[in-house]
Amino acid sequence: MSHWYHQIGLPTPSGSLQEDIDADVCIVGGGLTGLWTAYYLARADPSLRIVVLEAEFVGFGASGRNGGWLSAELAGSRSNYAAGHGGVEGANRLARELSASVDEVIAMCGEEGIDADIVKGGVVFAATSAAQLARMEDELAAHAQNPDSSVRRLDAAEVQARVQVVGARGGTFDPQCARVQPAKLVQGLASVVRNLGVSIYEQSRVVSLRAGSASTGEGSVRAPIVLRCLEGYTSSIPGERRTWLPMNSAMIATQPLGASVWEEIGWQGRELLGDFSNAYFYAQRTADDRIAIGGRGIPYRFGSRTDVDGQTQEWTIQSLRAVLHRTFPAVSSAEIEHAWCGVLAVPRDWCASVSLDRATGLGWAGGYVGSGLTATNLAGRTLRDLVIGHDTDLTSLPWTNRKVKRWEPEPLRWLGVRGMYGLYREADRREAAGLNAPSRLARFADAISGR
Ligand SMILES: Cc1cc2nc3c(=O)[nH]c(=O)nc-3n(C[C@H](O)[C@H](O)[C@H](O)COP(=O)(O)OP(=O)(O)OC[C@H]3O[C@@H](n4cnc5c(N)ncnc54)[C@H](O)[C@@H]3O)c2cc1C
Repeated sequence: MSHWYHQIGLPTPSGSLQEDIDADVCIVGGGLTGLWTAYYLARADPSLRIVVLEAEFVGFGASGRNGGWLSAELAGSRSNYAAGHGGVEGANRLARELSASVDEVIAMCGEEGIDADIVKGGVVFAATSAAQLARMEDELAAHAQNPDSSVRRLDAAEVQARVQVVGARGGTFDPQCARVQPAKLVQGLASVVRNLGVSIYEQSRVVSLRAGSASTGEGSVRAPIVLRCLEGYTSSIPGERRTWLPMNSAMIATQPLGASVWEEIGWQGRELLGDFSNAYFYAQRTADDRIAIGGRGIPYRFGSRTDVDGQTQEWTIQSLRAVLHRTFPAVSSAEIEHAWCGVLAVPRDWCASVSLDRATGLGWAGGYVGSGLTATNLAGRTLRDLVIGHDTDLTSLPWTNRKVKRWEPEPLRWLGVRGMYGLYREADRREAAGLNAPSRLARFADAISGR
């Protein structure tokens, strides 16, 4: 189980769907995409009958297990969005909306009384090798093209003044990012949504989803609008196996660390922390003074299978522990108290989308890759406008109604992802051993994966 649920306790699921009912909107999946959509729809039109169907309990998936980076990072490359409707200005607008969504989530939590340990301390990325520095320069050059970017360069001393990352040669800082306790956020939002009159059925796994209805086998919801909000679990729905690839991400959390360790590490600003390696890590200092750190682990299971209740392999735990100890030798004697994993969704072009087919009433949102915590909020507001039928600034964003090609059949998916992460790890090994420029293996991996 994740540290996040160890901290607050697993919720007791509410009743499951046992009959056939009618609704105006049926949302399949009780993660942040489904819940934000329900929230904004219920606020916009309290007369709507909204039903959420969730296979386990709300917040069971990535929304309750993630790294707690409420960041302005956009999934995929800007050029892919710019190639769609709206062009470069459309892609810039999407990035601006996403950035504003960080503040929207913080404001909503304040207004609705959701305490999710939020601290808006920004995000630091540290570069620890010549190759990572070169990759950082590329990213800074890309940010320089974007007039709205709030990302700035840090020299080695500035990184160390924030967080004492061993071997940091430089880094970047973006103030537009906040630390969150994910399970508190998603559980808090679920109770707000329930109080707004939305019916949430848990332990209600949808086995068939089509225009006008979603069925669990024991009951069904008939609704003119049916929204698929399943992210990494999308492939379990008949007909959707190759739509998005379920990618695994894993985390570990230390025991609470004492004052002497924090004196050595710093990290007083509660910034989120990442690096510029190819198989990158993401970390946060939790509200109860642990380090929670995540990375890719075993990235993909053959046939788009997903994990069982977040259990993760020993190999993954050991490799995350090695990253933690390399980055912060001061914690090498600390216990690793929790380890878990979850799935996120990767579209074939690595870019997210929000869609509603007005003819069938079928819609979806997702494919956020590893950056969904903020994007789910923007997606929820976009789905609200699409469902209500308002043409707004959100419905014209370039991620709306994007067509994305499907993944290849097996064994190509498995071989491709395995090959890609094998190349990333080898590239990181060569870069750490002293390569002066980013390894070409990583570029090759990007090329074969369509990233
Ligand atoms: C370990 C990890 C770390 C991450 N860290 C970050 C981060 O720091 N920052 C960030 O921005 N993003 C992060 N992400 C990604 C982010 O968590 C997701 O993009 C986001 O939570 C997706 O929300 P969602 O509601 O679309 O999907 P989910 O939260 O996965 O919700 C889908 C829900 O559907 C339910 N379900 C599945 N099948 C069915 C069915 N047949 N019928 C009904 N319900 C079903 C599931 O139980 C689940 O509750 C991370 C992801 C993981 C796994």
